Amino acid sequence: MVKISFRTDRCKGCGLCVTACPKKLLAMDSEKINAQGHHPATITDASACVGCASCALICPDCVITIIKE
Ligand code: SF4
Ligand code: SF4
Repeated sequence: MVKISFRTDRCKGCGLCVTACPKKLLAMDSEKINAQGHHPATITDASACVGCASCALICPDCVITIIKE
């Protein structure tokens, strides 16, 4: 099982993780604004995540953590 978590308030809304996900699971959350004033990244279907960690590796601000159990 894969768990993905976001340090949402560190997200600067650059969208790099969205382009990096091979499963197209990430998007900017248009309904939330974080402490920096950005729409933060979120996952649209956590159950489809394969745990490749491409999103976590490309994020320049270490927002995303992938845990495989
Ligand atoms: S771990 Fe891989 S599949 Fe899961 S959200 Fe990140 S890039 Fe997408
Ligand atoms: S790569 Fe990191 S900072 Fe950029 S949108 Fe994704 S989570 Fe936010």
